[in-house]
Amino acid sequence: MHDGIFDFYFCDRCRAYVLDERNGDLQFGVTRQTTVQSLPQGWTCPVCGGTAADLRPVTMFDHISQAEIAKALFQIKTPA
Ligand SMILES: [Zn+2]
Repeated sequence: MHDGIFDFYFCDRCRAYVLDERNGDLQFGVTRQTTVQSLPQGWTCPVCGGTAADLRPVTMFDHISQAEIAKALFQIKTPA
């Protein structure tokens, strides 16, 4: 847990899901400003069913471009 800093986390299992700690993911029961460390017990990735242990800070994945992250966010926030 770091002070007042919220990050993006990328699911390393499906590489499609991004969790934005600041905005949360209300559609999947994650309230705003929920850090990965304080995700609800039993949280699973809505894309692949991975756990919080599969989440990695986006900054660690330099090979994933901002465009790919934006694309992933767009897919999640736009109903099929
Ligand atoms: Zn996933």
